[in-house]
Amino acid sequence: MNKYILTIDQGTTSSRAMLFDHDGNVFFKAQEEVECLFPHDGWVEQNAIDLWLSVLSVINDVLARTNLTYDNIDSIGITNQRETTVIWDRATGMPVHNAIVWQSRQSAKICDGWNEYKDLVHEKTGLIINPYFSASKIRFILDSIPDGQQRAEKGELMFGTIDTWLIYKLSGGKVFRTDITNASRTMLFNLHTLDYDDELLKLFRIPRCILPEVCPSSYSFAEASVLKPGLMITGVAGDQQAALFGQNCFNEGDSKNTYGTGCFLLMNVGKKPVLSSKGLVTTIAWQIGKEVVYALEGSVFIGGACIQWLRDEMRMIKKASESEAYAMKVVGEPGVYVVPAFVGLGAPYWDDQCRGAVFGLTRATTKEEFIRATLNSIALQSKDLIRAMEIESNKKIKVLKVDGGATANDYLMQYQSDIISSKVVLPHCLETTSLGAAYLAGLESGYWKDLEEVKHIHRIQKEFNPKMNKALIKEIDRKWKSAIKATRTFK
Ligand code: ADP
Repeated sequence: MNKYILTIDQGTTSSRAMLFDHDGNVFFKAQEEVECLFPHDGWVEQNAIDLWLSVLSVINDVLARTNLTYDNIDSIGITNQRETTVIWDRATGMPVHNAIVWQSRQSAKICDGWNEYKDLVHEKTGLIINPYFSASKIRFILDSIPDGQQRAEKGELMFGTIDTWLIYKLSGGKVFRTDITNASRTMLFNLHTLDYDDELLKLFRIPRCILPEVCPSSYSFAEASVLKPGLMITGVAGDQQAALFGQNCFNEGDSKNTYGTGCFLLMNVGKKPVLSSKGLVTTIAWQIGKEVVYALEGSVFIGGACIQWLRDEMRMIKKASESEAYAMKVVGEPGVYVVPAFVGLGAPYWDDQCRGAVFGLTRATTKEEFIRATLNSIALQSKDLIRAMEIESNKKIKVLKVDGGATANDYLMQYQSDIISSKVVLPHCLETTSLGAAYLAGLESGYWKDLEEVKHIHRIQKEFNPKMNKALIKEIDRKWKSAIKATRTFK
């Protein structure tokens, strides 16, 4: 009988289920959109029961449309939107508040109140104090519901990120666990002791009894008894970490960049955490057995989103994919620079106040050049992150592994390779997030024997090699830096 790994990817915009075969190919996938609620400006919430239902629905969809049964499933891997916070009642298993989504700013005031602990938090958790991470969202919920703090202290409530919520539900409420990558995004987890930090729990008044047990990423988490007795969940990781694993970034210095709406860059920094002074965050990449691997992470706020801007606001293109043909029409370097700081600039600049700008326009500047300069900005912002990461980790990125929607653009990938002077590699399977969860699950269940076998099945689709001459790179670098500087001056 053919056996597959079933992965669940519970994301912010959709829930997806996929079946992977032994060669790491997607055999079948199903997807369902999930709803975001915006109760106030800057607040983003989701209904946790709806998320659970959407997961059941995509699992059913995958099985029904392939005419397979649970007997065809070797084991289950879960990957999830990170940091999103659910709190539920231990007695009834029902959420006591909507899930607060990672993007939500509703706990910003709570974070402001914790500002004096910023060095402590950074040193212990590798994170910066920010509403993104779960801690302030937990505090917000406990302060919002009647007797929240008392109920938490009495052990009547349970907290989980989406992985924990799904493990709890799939096990019929029997198992309360999380994986270490998700734990490392709570702002409560100490990267050095590999446990929740009692000093932080005390400062934030979060009782330990509401927190799930932390397990390695490749581990027999629970029986998904709601689906079938004996069917095990054996791999769990947050989405970006799962993608790093799915991209086979197994060695120190291996890095991946995901080109979606924003860009997410992660570098494997090995067995010791590297703390950043340039605003990158340190996180756990995965744990297999006793071995813990750490990563540095940084993000570009406006990645593919600036191509959506060209399409929807500037109305220069009808489809994102057209940007490539326009960019290819330009001969030579246009000398135009777009800085898409629509919501400020992230690492390594961290400037909330600046806004977007365009430089180098002449009477002869064309739409093609403008589009090309906008595409270039995605690669240039990524380059800034890459250089910051290289300095802090003391490792050179020789090969950049890439995934995400905008990697369909060959012009962009070639330009990225050119300006970082490194090879850019696109994997055969672009579903790297789900693939990472499948690998983690299959390694624990024995579906794949070991990492060597996983490396063996990993295949490359396309490679881009640097071609640009050094003098031009230097000139582009200088102009880009000058554009960033000028953008930050205009306030
Ligand atoms: P997300 O997971 O963040 O929704 P995706 O990985 O689906 O993002 O990628 C979508 C993003 O990629 C959009 O912002 C879109 O503008 C951009 N994009 C898609 N195709 C192209 C292309 N051919 N060239 C440039 N950008 C693209």
